[in-house]
Amino acid sequence: MAGCGGGGWVFRLAAVLVVVGFVLGSVDASLGDVDPQYRTCVEECHTTGIIGENIVTHCQSPGNDGTSVGSYWYAQEPLYMEWKQLNCRTDCRYYCMVQREGERQSRGLSPVKYHGKWPFIRVSVFQEPLSAALSAVNLLMHFTGWLSFFLLVNYKLPVRPQTKRTYYEYTGLWHIYAILSMNAWFWSSIFHTRDIDLTEKLDYSSAVALLGYSLILSLLRTFNVKDEATRVMFAAPILAFVTTHILYLNFYELDYGWNMKVCVVMAVVQLLAWAIWAGVTRHPSRFKLWVVVFGGALAMLLELYDFPPYKGYADAHSLWHASTIPLTYLWWSFIKDDAEFRTSTLIKKAK
Ligand SMILES: [Zn+2]
Repeated sequence: MAGCGGGGWVFRLAAVLVVVGFVLGSVDASLGDVDPQYRTCVEECHTTGIIGENIVTHCQSPGNDGTSVGSYWYAQEPLYMEWKQLNCRTDCRYYCMVQREGERQSRGLSPVKYHGKWPFIRVSVFQEPLSAALSAVNLLMHFTGWLSFFLLVNYKLPVRPQTKRTYYEYTGLWHIYAILSMNAWFWSSIFHTRDIDLTEKLDYSSAVALLGYSLILSLLRTFNVKDEATRVMFAAPILAFVTTHILYLNFYELDYGWNMKVCVVMAVVQLLAWAIWAGVTRHPSRFKLWVVVFGGALAMLLELYDFPPYKGYADAHSLWHASTIPLTYLWWSFIKDDAEFRTSTLIKKAK
């Protein structure tokens, strides 16, 4: 995730804002891409499609090399042309970056960022293979966690005799949480595979939606809100704000700095809510909550220390995506414990 994933993005984005926002002025301009040699390389590549031994076929327009490409019916389609142009730009940037980084390395210089990103080595279509793969594993962890939660509340735990609904009051809310989490990790994995305008917006929007929703959920659970009317009172202002914010990002301006502030506030509030609650509650699984909250805080350190990719693959961000895998497992384990705990409490009360 780029926008705001789970816990660790808070400080990563804070670091991104401070470093990129203030020092360089814009997210798109990094040390690597302001280098005149890199710029010349990209410009030349756009017109010729040649960088050293590499040939970027996407950059060679059908008009230039006769009728061979132009003879295909789709070669003149506007969408196809746009797709070609997009690939030409990404490929040129990639090969010029590889070339520049090779030169820098031979002079003993450390890697620099290009267009806001570290120089990653591509694997097939994957721009950031490790982050993309780990996002997929996170998605899988949420799926299996949710599945076992689903089986627990529907088949293992008793249901209310009159309504046939679960005793646990937060069942539906966790189902929505699972869907939003899987959606966010899905787009995160797509975004790390291919960073274009569309995938970036989908990733940011999904991350904001998940974060906003989990804020609502954290407040409802920690304040023990069970009554529908009160739940609506809690949720409505947050939902309204998050919806407006997502529309703003997509249709007005993808303002990284402002989005970061929004994400930080939403994350800090929910982490505090869970942390304070874990401190005062007598919940039998509060230690799991503690580990998730502290583990999340430790994972943030990874994001704070934004180091370049080791061997071209493992940067701080990808390690953060790795750290959320065990935390997600523990998190769903806590949710299941909570369902069992609430169910047994309510049954005891009913007797
Ligand atoms: Zn990510």
